[in-house]
Amino acid sequence: MPYRMDPSSKNEFTVQGIAASEGIAYGQVFVYLQSDVEVPSYQVEPGKRVDEIARFDRALVLTRQQVAKIKSEVEKNIGAEEAAIFDAHLMVLEDEALIGETIREFESTGRNMETCFHQVSSRYVQAFAEIDDEYLRERAGDLRDVAQRVLQNLLGQAENSLKRLAEQRVVAANDITPSECASLDRSGALAIVTDSGSKTSHAVIVARSMKIPAVVGVRDLTRRVTDGSWVIVDGYDGVVIVNPSESTLFRYGKIQERKKSFEARLLENNQLPAVTLDGVGVTLMANIEKATEATRAKNFLAQGIGLYRTEFLFLNSASIPTEQEQFLAYKEVVELMAPLPVVIRTLDLGGDKPLAGKADLFPKENNPFMGFRAIRWCLEHQDIFKDQLRAILMASHFGKVDLMYPMISGVGELARANAVLEECRQELQAKGVPFDVDMPVGAMIEIPSAAATADLLAKHCAFFSIGTNDLIQYMLAIDRVNERIAHLYEPTHPAIVRTLQKIVEEAHQRKLRVSVCGEMAGDPVFAPLLLGLGVDCLSMSPAWLPAVKYLIRATTMSDARALAAEALALESASEIYARCEAFYRARVKID
Ligand code: PEP
Ligand code: MG
Repeated sequence: MPYRMDPSSKNEFTVQGIAASEGIAYGQVFVYLQSDVEVPSYQVEPGKRVDEIARFDRALVLTRQQVAKIKSEVEKNIGAEEAAIFDAHLMVLEDEALIGETIREFESTGRNMETCFHQVSSRYVQAFAEIDDEYLRERAGDLRDVAQRVLQNLLGQAENSLKRLAEQRVVAANDITPSECASLDRSGALAIVTDSGSKTSHAVIVARSMKIPAVVGVRDLTRRVTDGSWVIVDGYDGVVIVNPSESTLFRYGKIQERKKSFEARLLENNQLPAVTLDGVGVTLMANIEKATEATRAKNFLAQGIGLYRTEFLFLNSASIPTEQEQFLAYKEVVELMAPLPVVIRTLDLGGDKPLAGKADLFPKENNPFMGFRAIRWCLEHQDIFKDQLRAILMASHFGKVDLMYPMISGVGELARANAVLEECRQELQAKGVPFDVDMPVGAMIEIPSAAATADLLAKHCAFFSIGTNDLIQYMLAIDRVNERIAHLYEPTHPAIVRTLQKIVEEAHQRKLRVSVCGEMAGDPVFAPLLLGLGVDCLSMSPAWLPAVKYLIRATTMSDARALAAEALALESASEIYARCEAFYRARVKID
């Protein structure tokens, strides 16, 4: 573990992670541990066993008090029906079988109570989750939630809820899900630091779009800080400084000032068009996860929405959104952006975005990113897929909509998806519901097989959007959320650069426009390479638009093409990266 003591302060130490979302924050930590937290396991000495059971009792009592308090708050602020959910939680805490079994496990193994309770409660959760009855299955969620609370109380950790982050805090989590991140209040979360994760995990993408500084992959940080520890989070260099000294604070204050004045310069520049020094216009669009983000995209002068990740509508609601609910959400974005285009991507659930509490729809998998995900899942759940397709078609009547399928692997799958779309068109037509009959339909190119058959897919698509986040993970066989191999996730690998060029070439031969909507598009170090390779449009989190536009305005397209030609001839990712970085540094001065 990279680790450094600062001589000026006994307690200061620096931990290196992965820079995931830019920005610097200073504040106190709020430790957030998810339910599948690794609990410490140790043997309890025979003389201390009575105390250990008493410790368990105290944790149960405290948990009951906490749940009862939440129940009365919810009753007062929301309603009696919602408050009743917590009766189920209280019942779990009274459950003789669960508690009795935990104590028996303790008596027979002598392991600490956290271990015993975790083992027994996990068995219960598993058993509930497998029951063929929706009501009982949902109890698994209640049980998991309460078990988490009991474990936290046993471990002496503060009550955790990201939604109820009352004060401004740096959230330090073992992991964070995309929906938890989306539920964060920007004014409450100063920064996010996670033990696991990588630059392209969906939670990080959400953090970036919310402009919350983030450092991920910090391994065991949550064990090395406690609630209330003071930290600096440096989302530029991927560093977390715990207990910073006065001199460190001063140094970071200066860095922050410089970055802020540069950001002000970027924002000023953002009012100008995205045109290179030799007069070539570049289309810059925004990626959004929620309808409300379209306003930000507009404020940052995006020339459309290049990727609307609709699955977040599903991840953020308690039940699967109906056709009408989806229609309203899509229409809101489409109307706001009109006449600019909105590329609505059909559901990309699965992978690191399963629907919580829906084990029947998302069975546990060994390889979720290579599993039952995105279009594969939609083609198996056509009722849900059709609701969405109809909602998108209906929204197309209110502005300019392009529809895009994620994770297309080849022509056959595209044809199956299009057949379902055709059924939806006919159903709406029969009912006289208006929609754009010429709505362009395109595919994400993010699976190597799609890249290899880009010439064939191009015959059946109106446009391509390259999902570099996935394309890189599949081409290089690097799990995009595994921090251990994050250093091998190389966007400038010659295989990637060559594949991008091939996709663009095939698309252009068929007069298709090509955009890149993976994280690579929003990184000013990579943007010139993509443009030089011929990519027509870059789509990114709205917050990144000013930096990319700044770079475009400081470069010529002929230089970008020369950079791409050079990259195509190089042999290693590091050489190509070095050329891209030098290109960027020669044009952008932060001071
Ligand atoms: C991608 O894979 O590059 C992409 C944009 O899609 P997502 O990150 O949602 O998988
Ligand atoms: Mg993808």
